[in-house]
Amino acid sequence: MSENKNLIEGRTGHWEVVIGLEVHAQVTSKAKLFDGCATDFGADPNTQVGFFTAAMPGMLPVINHKCVDQAIKTGLGLNAVVNKVSVFDRKNYFYADLPCGYQISQFTRPIVTGGHMDIDLDDGESRRINITRLHLEMDAGKSIHDLHPTKTYIDLNRSGIALMEIVSEPEMRSSAEAMAYVKKLRSILRYLGTCDGNMEQGSLRVDANISLRRPGNPFGTRAEIKNVNSIRFLGQAIEFEIGRQLEILEDGGEIVQETRLFDPNKGETRSMRSKEDAHDYRYFPDPDLLPLKLSDKRIEDMKAAMPELPDAKRARLIAEFGLPLYDASVIVSERETADYYEASVAALIAKDKAQGAKLIANWLMGEVFAAMNRDNHTMETLPLKADALAGLVDLILDNTISGKIAKDVFSKMWETGKAPAALVEELGLKQITDTSVIEQAVDTVLAQNADKVAEYKSGKEALFGFFVGQVMKATQGKANPGLVNDLIKSKLS
Ligand code: ADP
Ligand code: MG
Repeated sequence: MSENKNLIEGRTGHWEVVIGLEVHAQVTSKAKLFDGCATDFGADPNTQVGFFTAAMPGMLPVINHKCVDQAIKTGLGLNAVVNKVSVFDRKNYFYADLPCGYQISQFTRPIVTGGHMDIDLDDGESRRINITRLHLEMDAGKSIHDLHPTKTYIDLNRSGIALMEIVSEPEMRSSAEAMAYVKKLRSILRYLGTCDGNMEQGSLRVDANISLRRPGNPFGTRAEIKNVNSIRFLGQAIEFEIGRQLEILEDGGEIVQETRLFDPNKGETRSMRSKEDAHDYRYFPDPDLLPLKLSDKRIEDMKAAMPELPDAKRARLIAEFGLPLYDASVIVSERETADYYEASVAALIAKDKAQGAKLIANWLMGEVFAAMNRDNHTMETLPLKADALAGLVDLILDNTISGKIAKDVFSKMWETGKAPAALVEELGLKQITDTSVIEQAVDTVLAQNADKVAEYKSGKEALFGFFVGQVMKATQGKANPGLVNDLIKSKLS
């Protein structure tokens, strides 16, 4: 067994945390898994309910091949096996928002098995987590309890929307690893375009299974926390659950296998129901659906159309431009950010691409992100287009403006949407690189500060910065700082 840095120190000795995650990811698709009705979020209640979704007698499910393609794509993105034959089963249970009395899911023969994903940890290390399976199933509707004091309303718009349930092996060992897992999975799904990953709208929901054991012992009994809808809450829920189980186990008690809910207001989990077993659902193959068969060609075609995923993109950015691991990781974490970055680098005129690429990374992670957060923009709504950022960086690289002046130009570009070169012209911000002009300013400053020059010459070298500052001030910050330094140095020696 590999050494685990995350062991928990209890009163009675060490404990190891064991976490396995089940993620429900809503498939990006215009129509539902077995019905042609729409899937738009936020539509008026019960306006997207076809006859099959409403469970009208005699209605038959028709598989939506777009959803199947999305599952294939996701399986490939998770380095998994796409099974050429899979089977849809009925999972029977009664609930008011499930009119037909069963959920169509995949139980014994899922469409995808045996994948893995490398998660990125804060210390810059990565860890491989194995993925047990991915299966397709339909979502249930929504029961709305807070519109009426005594009644519950039912909205079937969500009923029948395709979900991918993605199940991990119990291989995570801390809340931080679980959070990193969801972050990475969400990033991959967004790159693939198979799920929008919007946790607030419920497009991605996490069930966390948690248990504790003595290092080296078999797994302990787990509790499952259902439907966590933010990564921060996931961390909080797991931490609470670890504390709760630790207390019980240290006192010699036993963990009850159960389903729990996390209350974000209280920061705690509470019991919802005792855990059901598979046999409680009376699974059987849905007689209305043939086994799902995939041709080799269909899988190969999907493989050929796969986009570059975050890990590969990160490796390429490092190899191509020599970007530091940290920069590359930040840039690839969201596809929109990576697209913007790459478009910006491609628009550079400067010959030294690597230098420009690093500078663009700095500006993107610094000024652009700060202004984006301040003004509530997203990557898609930025007022500063990728080629405009490249233009600004080009002006720095060819010494038209200094990095400091560039910050002012950036603010103006952000406000006005004007092109960087035009702004520099308009505002007269062009850097002074004419040595004779700078020399004149240096001479004036030194003449006006004869006392300080004397002090400097008698050993007070800290005054050098003062002279530089004065010259920059005299030139409204436009003098080339390197030339200013050189000239002052030569005049004072
Ligand atoms: P179910 O669908 O009934 O919840 P599964 O066998 O599919 O059960 O397991 C669900 C998840 O629970 C998986 O992610 C798995 O890794 C995780 N898991 C299984 N056993 C444990 C355990 N002892 N502690 C923590 N997680 C576990
Ligand atoms: Mg479960």
